[in-house]
Amino acid sequence: MKAVRMHGFGGVEQLIYEDTEQPRLSQPTEAIVELRAAAINHIDIWNRMGATSMVAKLPHILGADGAGVVIEIGRQVENIKKGDAVCLYPPAGCGRCEFCLTGRDFMCVHLRVLGERLEGTYAEYVKLPAENCFPIPTGFSFEEAAAFPLVFITLWRMLFTNAKLKPGETLLIIGIGGGVASAALQVAKKIGAQVIVTSGSDEKLERAKNLGADHGINHRKKDFTQEVNALTSNRGVDVVLDCVAGEVWQKSLTVLTRGGRLVTCGATAGGQPNDDLTAIFSKHLKIYGSTLGSREEFLQLLSFMTVSQIKPIIDSVFPLKEAAAAQRYVEEGRQFGKVVLRISG
Ligand SMILES: [Zn+2]
Repeated sequence: MKAVRMHGFGGVEQLIYEDTEQPRLSQPTEAIVELRAAAINHIDIWNRMGATSMVAKLPHILGADGAGVVIEIGRQVENIKKGDAVCLYPPAGCGRCEFCLTGRDFMCVHLRVLGERLEGTYAEYVKLPAENCFPIPTGFSFEEAAAFPLVFITLWRMLFTNAKLKPGETLLIIGIGGGVASAALQVAKKIGAQVIVTSGSDEKLERAKNLGADHGINHRKKDFTQEVNALTSNRGVDVVLDCVAGEVWQKSLTVLTRGGRLVTCGATAGGQPNDDLTAIFSKHLKIYGSTLGSREEFLQLLSFMTVSQIKPIIDSVFPLKEAAAAQRYVEEGRQFGKVVLRISG
């Protein structure tokens, strides 16, 4: 099969489009999916750079997100059959640790995620546990079905399970443009929250407003804490989604109202911010960190996507063989929404 394999840790030149062996079933609980689309995530770039220690063996196929058609199943598989169009739930647990045994396999101490400890989706075929295959939401193309799982499951857990965002509350999204941020904007507007977004790009703020953002703040031109205070009559916001951190973190705490919640799933501007502990206890703040989400949350999400007909925003589609160019584009932060790889079936 054709695949894009990473041959070493470093820049995009490590990604090579080439022939490699097609995966074969090794367990009766596995499935083989012929992929039609994959999506790029920031985690692919961290993995490529060797920043995660999650890739043990080279060459390796990156990619946590994908959608395609089931072509083979193991004899114990009952949830899917050959010919089914499926999207993929990225994490798999060991089934034996404390977290797996209590239904939290996405927190497994031996966690395996597609594109990390499992071979990923930048390929024509992928082998994975069949229980990670779910029907594509009604009306979704393969590209849309590949573009949503990782970012939407991440924001679903952050905003609803953790922060318990409610209709009528105000959400501040730091750095609109990336996959999680743009998906959070769509979902939060759909449930009736007020949404303020920040960006250093007027063009991205304009796109966010077209998607329903109530206010956009260009953080290069204005201090967003002052702007948020003005917009909320000095009350502050209920929830901040901050996956940027660095010097922004302190400001994110500052703009929260009493009882506010801060959620994070990343630290693209630096992972060691200064915390104002006084703000945390005096305002009764809660800080939630998370990555991915549970199978139960994924099922809630699939149902929500079908009912709401929210589709992931796709910025651009590259052919599989141009995965390196697609990663560079995401690395440069040029996208608004998801960057997808098309894989001819
Ligand atoms: Zn486990």
